Amino acid sequence: MTDFVDLRGDNVSENDRDLDKALRPDSFGDFSGQDKIVENLKIFVKAANMRGEALDHVLLHGPPGLGKTTLSNIVAHELGANMKVTSGPVLDKPGDLAGLLTNLEYRDVLFIDEIHRLSPIVEEYLYSAMEDYKIDIMIDKGPSARSIQLELNPFTLVGATTRSGLLTSPLRARFGINCHLEYYDVKILTGIVQRSSRILDTHIDERAAIEIAGRSRGTPRIVNSLLRRVRDFAQVKGNGKIDLEITRYALEALNIDKNGLDEMDNKILQTIIEKFKGGPVGISTIATAVGEDAGTIEEVYEPFLIKEGFIKRTPRGREVTDFAYKHLGISKASDDMLLF
Ligand code: ADP
Repeated sequence: MTDFVDLRGDNVSENDRDLDKALRPDSFGDFSGQDKIVENLKIFVKAANMRGEALDHVLLHGPPGLGKTTLSNIVAHELGANMKVTSGPVLDKPGDLAGLLTNLEYRDVLFIDEIHRLSPIVEEYLYSAMEDYKIDIMIDKGPSARSIQLELNPFTLVGATTRSGLLTSPLRARFGINCHLEYYDVKILTGIVQRSSRILDTHIDERAAIEIAGRSRGTPRIVNSLLRRVRDFAQVKGNGKIDLEITRYALEALNIDKNGLDEMDNKILQTIIEKFKGGPVGISTIATAVGEDAGTIEEVYEPFLIKEGFIKRTPRGREVTDFAYKHLGISKASDDMLLF
């Protein structure tokens, strides 16, 4: 997307990570958007609290940066429980999982990020843990090796995934609560920018907040990243206050797309236009042409491009809209590059 900042947050500095922690909402009241999900989770948490039981297992799916980890944190907090965090690729041996599970206290939350990347053997282990709060572990080696069953404290597994299509059906069936997070609209993101600015003790005017929100790909994590970078510009190049002028200046300097699209979004649109005359074209053909996995395009990139009106789904495949031509400055008639 840009040479300067990693807005998806994969390579954030330590300082940014600390700020990220400070900006992360820790109660349902501070979490904006995803109204239906929040409303339902509140009820399920309240009911579990009233009965003094562990909350049913929760699956959170949706593109990166939309608040899956944050929601899990909030759920643990509202249950008055601890949260242990791990991720699918880290748990490569059943023993790793057993260690985590046996250390959980009554009603604790175990958060497994990228749960679609669990190895099949670890996943199988998880089934009885989720269903009966029991696991079988092997003790000793050689001829005296035997399996014993351990009882676990009732706990809640919160699984997060950007690729729910890759989850096996036995695993998916073991989640009693299933939530799909959607991209945020500009109004909600503006509110998130304003809340974050207050926490960072930085003044921002409303038009600047709207500008940042509109260029953040519908994603709170990107909103917070952009806000921090714009704040740097305001401090060094301005008087510390964030107004529309310094915001536009910073976003230009950071090479942030006017509509909030990232490099892969633009590559997808450009490929459909230049290689396939604007479509219709099948998802796997697009995937091969841009060098990305078809499922990732379908679950991570495409939903935003459709939501924002850059792509249409037709029975014969994906087609770009006039808006996409305009966004890229390509004339539809001649397919020549024209800058608007
Ligand atoms: P995910 O786990 O889906 O990748 P995170 O939960 O890590 O996303 O969210 C990324 C950042 O975005 C968090 O640090 C948090 O500050 C912010 N964030 C996410 N959702 C919200 C929200 N609904 N309201 C305010 N901030 C949010």
